Amino acid sequence: MEAKSLKHIVILATGGTIAGKAGSALQMTGYQAGAFSVQDLLDSVPGLDAHAKISGEQLCNIGSQDMQDAIILQMAQRCNELLAQNDVDGIVITHGTDTMEESAYFLNLTVKSSKPVVMVGAMRPATAMSADGPLNLLNAVKVAAEDASVGKGVLLVMNDCIYGGRDVTKTNTTNVATFHATNGGALGYITGGKVQYYYAPLRLHTVATEFDVAGVTQLPRVDILYSHANDDGILAEAAVAAGAQGIVYAGSGMGSLHAGCEAALAAAIAKGVAVVRSSRTGSGVVVESKKAWTEMGILDGDNLNPQKARILLQLALCVTKDRDAIREIFGKY
Ligand code: ASP
Repeated sequence: MEAKSLKHIVILATGGTIAGKAGSALQMTGYQAGAFSVQDLLDSVPGLDAHAKISGEQLCNIGSQDMQDAIILQMAQRCNELLAQNDVDGIVITHGTDTMEESAYFLNLTVKSSKPVVMVGAMRPATAMSADGPLNLLNAVKVAAEDASVGKGVLLVMNDCIYGGRDVTKTNTTNVATFHATNGGALGYITGGKVQYYYAPLRLHTVATEFDVAGVTQLPRVDILYSHANDDGILAEAAVAAGAQGIVYAGSGMGSLHAGCEAALAAAIAKGVAVVRSSRTGSGVVVESKKAWTEMGILDGDNLNPQKARILLQLALCVTKDRDAIREIFGKY
């Protein structure tokens, strides 16, 4: 292939296990995430430059369990700057796997370009026997350079699978096959080195959203409350006292509220806090259940898991405080 026909893909490195360093090839836990640089990652993939013209940028170098709104905002803003350049065809973001699903969904809603943005990470540190990072990175670059990836929103590539940024979630603590779209499936696969798609996302994303994070430096506080026996609403009161503008209630089953929490949530809503029901089950849709909950003003989180519902509620609250408008947003994205 002629070098001039290669796409230009920027690797934006943020840390994670893909850049993780352990004391030995057998150490798979307790290592230092975010220890290697973007150049180290590129050097670990022989022949990467045969698939794209690559340049690397280090955005940060952290374990993604420590993610902050400021970094997510910076990630989106940098993607938008890079993708606005004519000489950039796509972006691969190396990221810790713990919160990759949140960043993927945030970017899916805030990147203003149809060019591919592909998230990638690893479950084994770079120093491990059978480290999965180098092949994942090669696959991510191939996906980012693929014409068929244009217009599919932010994608996540791990373990030979391509997922939509809205749908994908981490399901296992250590297994390399940890990512799944629990309400659907993968959009495509990399098989025998070839990228193939079978499905495309339908919910609005990237250029079709109303969310604009240009110049935004802070996001509204949204807390997640996890339902359990004896839930007495104390944590809901604490969230409101801490300044939460939104609460995602990770209810049992189909987003059920514990009766002990209802009064505290009603008080939160009376103070202008947006409350969204989601589910702690890991998959499925949350729709209207008890009329009394709807009458209290609680919104339904659709099939977004609590951490994704939190991202959408943060962005929704940047646009509106109106409950009906937020309900509409949850129906669109
Ligand atoms: N704790 C790590 C992180 O999210 C795990 C990983 O990357 O797989 O950064």
